[in-house]
This record gives sequence, C-alpha cells and structure tokens, in this order.
Amino acid sequence: MLTLARAGCALTLCLAGPAAFAAERSPLVRPYVSVDAPTLALTHVRVIDGTGAPPAADQTVLIANGRIQAVGPSVAIPPDAKVLDLTGRTVFPGLVMLHEHLFYPAGENAYNQQEISFPKLYLAGGVTTMRTGGSLETYTDLNIKKAIDEGTRPGPAIDVTGPYIEGPGLPILSVKALRDTGDARRMVEYWSGEGATSFKTYMHVTRSDLRAVVEAAHARGHKVTGHLCSVTFREAAALGIDNLEHGFVVASDFVKDKKPDVCPDSKDMTAALLALDPDGAEAVSLIDALVKAKVAITSTLPVFETLVPGRPPATDRALDALLPEVRDQYLRIRSRVAVDDKSPWPKLFEKELKLERAFAARGGLLVSGTDPTGYGGVVPGFANQRQLELLVEAGFSGVEAIRIGTLNGARYLGIDDRVGSIAAGKQADLVVVEGDPSQRIADVEKVETVFREGVGYDPKKLIDSVKGVAGLR
Ligand SMILES: [Zn+2]
Repeated sequence: MLTLARAGCALTLCLAGPAAFAAERSPLVRPYVSVDAPTLALTHVRVIDGTGAPPAADQTVLIANGRIQAVGPSVAIPPDAKVLDLTGRTVFPGLVMLHEHLFYPAGENAYNQQEISFPKLYLAGGVTTMRTGGSLETYTDLNIKKAIDEGTRPGPAIDVTGPYIEGPGLPILSVKALRDTGDARRMVEYWSGEGATSFKTYMHVTRSDLRAVVEAAHARGHKVTGHLCSVTFREAAALGIDNLEHGFVVASDFVKDKKPDVCPDSKDMTAALLALDPDGAEAVSLIDALVKAKVAITSTLPVFETLVPGRPPATDRALDALLPEVRDQYLRIRSRVAVDDKSPWPKLFEKELKLERAFAARGGLLVSGTDPTGYGGVVPGFANQRQLELLVEAGFSGVEAIRIGTLNGARYLGIDDRVGSIAAGKQADLVVVEGDPSQRIADVEKVETVFREGVGYDPKKLIDSVKGVAGLR
C-alpha cells in the first residue's frame, strides 16, 4: 500500500535522520519548521523550568544539536549561534501527556483513526511526548510513532499503548473481548513483541486478568495503566498496577455492596461518589493506599468538562480544526448536556478537582492527559492547554500545573533524565508562548514556537494544514 512517492521522501533523505539541516528535512516535515539552526540562543526569555520552581526572568537558553547546553541570566553565546530575542515571552518544557489517542469518536460507539491531523495538532499545542491511553488501530499508531522517530512526519514522541485489554461487556466493536486470563497474557506478549511499550486495562477485566497483564508487562519492562470499574483502585494497587486513569470519579471503591470482578451499575457508582466526602476518612485512606503503592493518577479533566452543564464549549480554534459534520455532532450533543439540570456532573467535577488536589498534596504522582473521546469536543493540542487551565482551577499554581503536565509525566515514563524540564543536558523540547502562564495560565494557548529536539515548529502552519480535517483522518 505505502509508496515512496506517497511517503514523500527519497530514500537518501530519510536515512539522513532528524539531525540533518533544514534543507534536508523530510518534505512532510519541512513546511512546518520555522527555526532550524545547529546552535540557537533564546534570549531575554522568562523560564518556567517544569520543576515547580518560580519563573526566572530574562534568561538565555542555549541549544546545540538538539540539546540544552546552558540556561541562565548570563550565558556566553557562541558567535555562530542563531539568536532569538524573546522579550515578553515565556518558555516552558514540552508537554508530556499520558492519556492521548490517535482516534476520535464518530458517534454510536464508533471511532475514526486520526493519523494525519492528530500528531500535528498535538505538536502545535505544545505536546512533545505523549502516551496513548489505549489503541484501536495499533499498527497505525506504531507506524505513526516510527515515522515521527525517523523524522519523516511531524509530531510528538509517542509511547504506544497496545490495544485495550478488556473483558466481555463493552459495546465497542473495535475492542476485543478477552476469552480468558491466558488471552490477556498473550496480548501483552504479542504486542510488546510488535513494539507497544505500555498497556491499558479497561472496565470489565477480572483481578486475575489484571494480575496476568501486570506480570507479563513488568517482565518486559513495560508499565500498566487502567480505566477500571470491575476491579477497584485498591485491588489494582495491590496487584501492582502502575497508573490509574481519569482520577477518582471512575473508582468503584466507594460502592458499598460491590461484587468482586463486576463493574457496578453506573447509577450506584454515581450515588456512591456523590455521597463521598473528599476530605473524609474513606477518601483519604484510599489516597494514602495509592500513594504508598506508588500508583500514579492521570488527571483527564477536559473530557469530564464536556459532561458538565454550563461549562464553556471547545474553543473556536478547536472547532475550526474539526470536520464540519463532526463539529456539528459535538455541538448538537453538547446542547443537550447544557440543559440537563439533573446532571450529577457539576458536583462530580467539583469533587474530582478536590480529590486530585488532595492526592497531590498527600504525595501522590499526579500526571496529565486529555482523553479525546467521550462525545467529542476534546481536540488534541487545544485540550492539552485546557488541561493545564483546569488544574489551576483545581487550585494548583501555574508553575505546578505545568510541572504536572511536563516533569511528572516524564517521571512516570522514566524519561525525566532526558525530557520534562529545562536544564543543561536535556533534550531541547520547549514551548515558547507570548505572555506569562505563571500569572495567566491561559497564556499557554498563545504558542509561538514548539521546539522538539531543538527544531522549532510553527503551530499556526501545523493547525492550518489540518483545518476542517480533524475527525475525518
Ligand atoms: Zn481514553
């Protein structure tokens, strides 16, 4: 199926690899490159380094061959360096987001793969590293990752999660239902052999399925996360899971008469969560159990925000990226959500913000994602910026929200020696914005340049190239 002409690269160029100069960038990458110099100095810039430290004003960030060489108020700039005066701008680390997807909801539990639009939208939004929170077309995801790694397509570095590992009971035709626990183990063995480096369990697995997945994945050095229901958070932590998706509003731990290995009815889940006191002993004891077991929690506030009546819709910029029919479908459903005055979501959303704060305050590793599923409206790049804004609404400071969206994710993936903060020796994955997100978190939307491995990408060109296409391909 794949031809060289269609792939748009002559063999010699592909072999040149990402370190080559602008002229040799792949034709599918070059149009989006705005800054490409072996040595580069970003001057007079405010630095938010990703560690949670206060911002540092009027800094120079020196970059050479894709790596940060030095950061500080008085860095010596080599004569051959390209100098960018970034007065009035702020630079923070490239976002490391852990619940992303390369597919989008098409309605009626169907999904469309987004191999063209999504990698570009993620990069344009400042995401330079992402983990997928489960895949439907896993080979497509693996090939996208490969093309980005080889520099033949633009996009973030991707930690590809295998297909959903799910028991019977999910009404989504593109997800396999496990036949037995052996099936779960075989899926990990097979897909890690194919290149998947993370695994995601879902709402109807049993405890023995989860145990088998954790054992097989850990034996291969891979981590396991889950959007769970049939298995409680506490049980999953005891079974060695590494991460739990979506935070506490999906936890079945609070359902009084929960049956083992059975996902409770959603009405019972909602009732239990509405009754839960976020500062109460039950919540605190679960939080402490997760912190003790070193289980990370992935905050995915944008997808939940779409369920809350009265919350703002996706921004016009995000809607413009969507195929008109897809945009209209989202707006139609949202208009129904907006008038649902019996919805439990205003309270659930408020509670989730409190519980995520409590988890972080009690020493938990909170990481970030967006989950571009639900009924739509969670558009890559734009939603990742919205995630940071919602963390500030939850009570985190701007620099803390950025740490949760950068260094914390890198720490979870075990790549914080290489990415996730701005420091000498690290990969030059950086986001340059106009303004100061430590004062106005919404300034994270004012992206001017996204650097990945020291190459600067023009977000506007990336976004314009997929205008009206997201949701289709
Ligand atoms: Zn998801």
